[in-house]
Amino acid sequence: NLPYADGDFYFFEELLSSKERDRLHEVRDWLATEVRPHAARWWNEGEFPHELIPRIAELDIVSPVRRLGCSNLFAGLLHAEFTRADTSVATFMGVHDGLFTGSIETLASPEQQEAWLPDIYSMKKIGAFGLTEPLGGSDVAGGTRTTAERDGDSWVLNGAKRWIGNATFSNWVVIYARDVADNQVKGFLVDTSLPGYSATKIENKIALRSVQNADIVLDGLRIGDEFHLAGANSFKDTNKVLRITRLSVAWQAVGQQLAAFDVARRYAVERQQFGRPLASFQLIQQQLVEMLGNTVSSLGMMVRLAQLADNGGARDEQSALAKAFTTARMRETVALGRSILGGNGIVTDYEMAKIFADAEAIYSYEGTYEINSLVTGRAITGMAAFL
Ligand code: FAD
Repeated sequence: NLPYADGDFYFFEELLSSKERDRLHEVRDWLATEVRPHAARWWNEGEFPHELIPRIAELDIVSPVRRLGCSNLFAGLLHAEFTRADTSVATFMGVHDGLFTGSIETLASPEQQEAWLPDIYSMKKIGAFGLTEPLGGSDVAGGTRTTAERDGDSWVLNGAKRWIGNATFSNWVVIYARDVADNQVKGFLVDTSLPGYSATKIENKIALRSVQNADIVLDGLRIGDEFHLAGANSFKDTNKVLRITRLSVAWQAVGQQLAAFDVARRYAVERQQFGRPLASFQLIQQQLVEMLGNTVSSLGMMVRLAQLADNGGARDEQSALAKAFTTARMRETVALGRSILGGNGIVTDYEMAKIFADAEAIYSYEGTYEINSLVTGRAITGMAAFL
């Protein structure tokens, strides 16, 4: 048992209440036994472990801040713990709890929330978040081509969505579509068993292989007006969800670095070359310290953002810089970790190859490094470089 085994070098966890700390450790232990030992196999097979869903439901952790009244720091550290165990399972939760549940909590009317949230919180119904399109990625605000047309008491949806996590098996998906009447992007809760909905798994990914991402086609799908999210009436409304979930992805970048640090340090201590452990060489120690510095600076930034979120919320540019900065540090950290494992760093049996590859998805989703830099750049110069 080495000191600083959990990578929390400046004891940020002490900022949690003792109840939250106990809960975090309970979930961490669960992830260490139920998820981490199996994660490389799920990743290699490219299959999502559906049997895990009722067991995660038993943990009763969906919506930790809004429903359970926990701090944003607890929610962030919890998400980092999921990522430390396996980024694919963390992303499944990030989609169901962050993007999907967040859309309903932020944009649905009180009556809609009352009808839908109980099944979402208990994970009886699993959700997905359908915003990105084949032709609308970074420019998703202008690039939304999926249409919604009002027809009496119904809406008719037509179009295509790409990359939608969980959507091959989810019960529901929130679809963002452009209302042909006023040209605004609106949000709809779509039951995936309805005629006109089809989802095809995206194959051959080199990252997040156990997450099921889908290409969705909406072909004349008809839903009642009660499934139009009452508060989702323009892209500004969609952005209210992204502002929060971008922070969750930055927490994933923290968890990803904690995982890389853990695997690399353990390996360096155990692996012998030239008759000594790798960890005894100065260059290797320097690399481990660089990994730790990156991880802890990312964590420190996120702790402050969690405080801001507790006090009313982070601004767009504050979330954007956090996502850009932590994912850039993550890329450096996982590359160092992969190098420390030498040849074994490219085999998933040693975890690091999976951590290394998964980092690439985190770097690009929920706004790429460039787009989050441009959001921050606009805030500090007063000039928009991307519109
Ligand atoms: P593009 O927008 O085509 O960008 C390509 C490159 O060009 C990037 O490097 C980008 O930074 C750069 N670029 C673009 N515009 C500019 C500019 N103005 N200046 C400088 N550089 C620029 N979406 C959902 O709606 N729901 C999901 O559940 C979901 N899950 C995902 C899971 C995974 C694994 C992945 C990979 C993506 C997921 N996405 C999801 C979509 C994701 O958010 C997009 O991939 C992301 O926003 C980038 O869009 P794009 O891939 O179309 O890249």
